[in-house]
Amino acid sequence: MARILLLLGLLVLALFWALGRRRDGAGSAKAGPGPVGAPPGPMPMVACAHCGLHLAQAEAVQDAEGRWFCSEDHRAQGARGARG
Ligand SMILES: [Zn+2]
Repeated sequence: MARILLLLGLLVLALFWALGRRRDGAGSAKAGPGPVGAPPGPMPMVACAHCGLHLAQAEAVQDAEGRWFCSEDHRAQGARGARG
């Protein structure tokens, strides 16, 4: 009779262990893909038309002709260089 009680106890333990594992698995699977703390979308990169420096489009300066520059300084120099 003691063996049956032992088996029942093991069964209950196994059940709790399986339930706990299933919950852990679902949680880790959700947090798996994708780097943590990264921006949601891909950040567009542009090259400065004057010095060739690559920087994020959000930090770049665009001139009237649609060219990208790393700073207002290079935008003025680039425009001057294009004119001759
Ligand atoms: Zn530049």
